[in-house]
Amino acid sequence: MTNDGNYKKSKIGNHRLKPETMMMSYGYNPQLSEGSVKPPVFLTSTFAYQTPEEGEESFHIMAGRKPAPQGSLGGLIYSRFNHPNVEIVEDRLSLFEGSECSVVCSSGMGAISAILLAYLRPGDVIVQSAPLYGGTETLIRKFLPQFNIETGEFHDGLDEDDMLTSLRNAGKKGRVAMVFNESPANPTNSLVDFEALNRVLDTIKTETGHRPISVCDNTLMGPIFQQVVPQGIDMAMYSLTKYVGGHSDLVAGAVCGSLDMLRAVRATRGTLGLNLDPHTSWMISRSLETLSIRMQRAADSGHKVAQWIADNAYINAKILHPDFIKNTVYQAVYKRQCSGPSSTFSFVLDISKSDAFRLINNLSIFKSAVSLGGSESLVCHPASTTHSGVSAELRDKFGVTDGLIRLSIGLEHPDDLIADLDNAFRLTFAAAK
Ligand SMILES: *Cc1c(COP(=O)(O)O)cnc(C)c1O
Repeated sequence: MTNDGNYKKSKIGNHRLKPETMMMSYGYNPQLSEGSVKPPVFLTSTFAYQTPEEGEESFHIMAGRKPAPQGSLGGLIYSRFNHPNVEIVEDRLSLFEGSECSVVCSSGMGAISAILLAYLRPGDVIVQSAPLYGGTETLIRKFLPQFNIETGEFHDGLDEDDMLTSLRNAGKKGRVAMVFNESPANPTNSLVDFEALNRVLDTIKTETGHRPISVCDNTLMGPIFQQVVPQGIDMAMYSLTKYVGGHSDLVAGAVCGSLDMLRAVRATRGTLGLNLDPHTSWMISRSLETLSIRMQRAADSGHKVAQWIADNAYINAKILHPDFIKNTVYQAVYKRQCSGPSSTFSFVLDISKSDAFRLINNLSIFKSAVSLGGSESLVCHPASTTHSGVSAELRDKFGVTDGLIRLSIGLEHPDDLIADLDNAFRLTFAAAK
């Protein structure tokens, strides 16, 4: 038996293969590339047709004038629309998210832009959970209003009444076309209850005749510890720059959902020129092979580090890590929606900004940088960096205080990370005690 026809294999007899296994094979046929076990980087801008009829057919399919053949998106045309390296990533990411398909973009912000511009029109309202990632906040609150798209927000994703009231209030400004949420949210790890959100959206549909489209930014836990499309969210959005890329050496994004839901997103990506290049796509296909073990290891280490901070002898700390948030509603939603924690979490100390800076300066393994989900551990002071554009009043409301410090735990040995923290806590706080 040749490898031909095996490259979309998802079962052996009745046994369903796990995504981890399929990351090394799915969607790439070595026999089409000289037997090369790994996909080549297809450095080409355009693809030759065997006949002009084939070219005509490909354009009919791309423009949506004809359906694609079963199990295909149509032929390759031009690298702004599609190319083999990006299609391999889309096929494989869908396996992890549990979605029918994916659209990969040149950044997480590019993916969000494609979603918003595909589905929002002047006069519409978008409702968001708050706070969102800083770039998303800017896009929704500062960019969209220039196109007469209004915004609304809800603050407690665990409170069904709060979400329903917020959507009804937003509906007074126009048609609520979309609800965009982040769960868990950065840097507090707060959650949105998807079952409650879906009930709210059903109610809005009954009341207005339109069910707002739901989108979840699944960057923090997905696709290993949380899949949102199978939980009834219309689209999952990813910054692949973070855990999926996983080595802090690339920028990319993605949207996952049904073929129907992503048709407009794919078309918007092509129109605006938001596709990802072949080389970066290839790097992501490499990263996907180790994604599951990387996220698992980082999560295990993250739990150990959080436990050390919770138990530390130097100073009282509040831990905003999903395993350590002692709220019964939160825990019920966490257990229902997620299969593990993200290795990105914060701790809150009752200290000034200068003491927070002293603590960060006393760390030697943790690098002081924004971003998260890489192989190296990072420390970040959100109030003065990622969330510095948010007003002090809003920061207080969301709990992003001067004493909140965020960690992204990477792949170093957890004992070394704990030794680094122990040293820094001792240098910063022991004298004070
Ligand atoms: C980084 C990030 C984004 C933006 O992604 P880019 O790849 O930087 O464009 C969006 N959402 C979250 C939660 C992020 O962490």
